[in-house]
Amino acid sequence: MFLRELTMTLDHIKGAGPASIQALTNAGITNVAGLFSRYPRDWEDRTKLVPLKDFKLGTVCTEIRVVAHDWFNAGGSKTLKIFVEDETARGVLICFNRSFMDKQLLVGNQYRLWGNFHYRFGEIQCASFDTEAVTKQTESTGAKQSSFGRILPIYPLSTGLSQGMLRKFIQQALTQYAGNLENEVPEYILSRLKLLSKAESLRALHFPKSLQELEIAKQSLIYEELFYLETLVARRGLERRGLAAKFQPSGTGEPAGKKIYFSEIQKRLVERLPFELTLGQQEAVTDLNRDMDRPYPMARLLQGDVGSGKTLVSFLAVLRTVELGGQAGIMAPTELLARQHAENAARLLEPLGIRLAFLTGNIKASGRAALLKSLLAGEIDAVVGTHALFSRDVGYKNLRLVVIDEQHRFGVVQRQAILAKGEHPHLLMMSATPIPRTLALTVFGDLEISLIRELPPGRKPVRTHLARESNEAKVYDFVRNELSGGRQAYFVYPLIEADINRSLKDAETMAERLAVEIFPHFTVALIHSKLDEEEKRKIMEYFRKGEIQVLVATSVVEVGVDVPNASCMVIEHAERFGLAALHQLRGRVGRGKHQSYCFLVYSDALTEDGKTRLKVMLENSDGFVIAEEDLKLRGPGHIAGIEQSGYLVLGLADPIRDAERLEQARADAFSMLERDPELTQPEHQCVAQALTRQSPFGSSGF
Ligand code: ADP
Ligand code: MG
Repeated sequence: MFLRELTMTLDHIKGAGPASIQALTNAGITNVAGLFSRYPRDWEDRTKLVPLKDFKLGTVCTEIRVVAHDWFNAGGSKTLKIFVEDETARGVLICFNRSFMDKQLLVGNQYRLWGNFHYRFGEIQCASFDTEAVTKQTESTGAKQSSFGRILPIYPLSTGLSQGMLRKFIQQALTQYAGNLENEVPEYILSRLKLLSKAESLRALHFPKSLQELEIAKQSLIYEELFYLETLVARRGLERRGLAAKFQPSGTGEPAGKKIYFSEIQKRLVERLPFELTLGQQEAVTDLNRDMDRPYPMARLLQGDVGSGKTLVSFLAVLRTVELGGQAGIMAPTELLARQHAENAARLLEPLGIRLAFLTGNIKASGRAALLKSLLAGEIDAVVGTHALFSRDVGYKNLRLVVIDEQHRFGVVQRQAILAKGEHPHLLMMSATPIPRTLALTVFGDLEISLIRELPPGRKPVRTHLARESNEAKVYDFVRNELSGGRQAYFVYPLIEADINRSLKDAETMAERLAVEIFPHFTVALIHSKLDEEEKRKIMEYFRKGEIQVLVATSVVEVGVDVPNASCMVIEHAERFGLAALHQLRGRVGRGKHQSYCFLVYSDALTEDGKTRLKVMLENSDGFVIAEEDLKLRGPGHIAGIEQSGYLVLGLADPIRDAERLEQARADAFSMLERDPELTQPEHQCVAQALTRQSPFGSSGF
């Protein structure tokens, strides 16, 4: 049986009474599998003797004799004090609310004692301790197993549960049921990696014989979780590749390898650019070309820090697609960004004869109807837009490439909806919110990854400064100076409009103040999500042309916006923004040849968390490092894109800490499924079963 099949109720466990079953049920434990899955949060090592004199070295674990009882007054109630000694020293047990201990620890008798002692009032004292009588009986009958000389599990408790109760039930359940447990991981992997069987690892996790055994048990269970996860990921990848039979290879059959190559039409675009592509961009395009030459759909994640030039790479992918007779869709998370892409596409792609369209939710009525008609007829080669690209009434003649910009902004459902518009189109996802490699392997495990490591040459790193709110005048002076030199600036606020309940600056009020008091000689404009699209479009256009010098905004400018002449980013109440947002915002400057600056203005009442985030921003410019820091601060569940992807809730495993195990599990899962995609071998039965479970990613992946 597999662990999840141990669904027998708790009354099957010998010695389980109604009261304890109720307590366990209240704690969410209703069957044997649930009991086994209540992992200890810690372990107490009672195997090593620590005499009283060594109390500073750790938890005392020794045999003592009770010397005397005494009573003293603490907070108006009589409290028991017990003097004890072992061969090395004397100590005192303080029994707060445990007056009954005078009947349990009798003067003159020997006991085993376990507790954390401190030096206080001239004595070695302990207020929370555990004891056990030393009698021949306990040792010989075994009726009540001694807890000394063992490593004891410490469970997370809730009302009505005690450590003793959980230990007793889990011990008993292990005796009754662990023997029948089957392994989820194939035996040959377990023996190769010297990991424990499922039954052994559960037993050793709850009641380890030694710390070494505990470690192996943890590693075994961690590996199992990761192996299971990667099996799902691998299956998804192989399913996609399995589509090979349906497709004819489309490309030129370039030989494999890292040699950079571009198609004819791609070369024509590159020749017209006023700059050279970076090596990272060239490699990414080569990766894409090679993918599209293969007989099954591409699934690639293009990662590159803000400003690394991902858009251009995606345009080159669009060119290749159209060259091969297909249509392409480029989807962006905001209308602002979609429009910017559309404008760039018009500038770069139209001259090469690409027929473009722009589609968002705001394009209405007759224009929309005509557009949809030509999309369906194949008279449009590439369409740029928001999620409107996969509205129900939108149809394509031959959608062969889907580009998803800022992919972490979209959920799995949305990604699937757009893919469903074509027959297994190629998928290119782009992200500037870098996902650490280890997480990319878990969550986006069947995607291939291209990484643009460098920024275009000539970019100067953005200089970041922290400023107290009370010093804002200095920041304003600095910005004024930049504006006088012909540059432009962003000011970002956490709120759109004033909120009387909060003493925060807001974009509306500040736009007014900046325009009238602070920068009276410059044009200041306000942009935020509540403006209508036409207004936003105009403002962005004027800002891009330099007719507006100061753009006051909320985080709408966070993603993608590209105005190279802007050299100042001022973020007020910076402590209110998350690291990912701060990094994105800072990435709006430093996009041209001018030295750029980012001012993080914080209010004087900083939380520890806020302080840490600002420090990370001050000390780091690399988006990958910032993402790792974010991960440390917030845990993997919060990394953009993980929630939506239905990321597995892991028990013991931590994909960052256990990165090496993860890679191992991944390699094993892929090679197992590649060798035997049908999983007909008996040794794979367990995995076959695991696979029939609901995939946390949905059935067909992205
Ligand atoms: P991101 O990767 O953040 O999406 P963009 O695609 O918006 O970055 O590009 C940022 C800016 O860099 C754009 O103005 C783009 O034209 C410019 N750019 C892209 N590639 C290069 C290059 N190889 N050399 C110089 N500038 C480039
Ligand atoms: Mg971008």
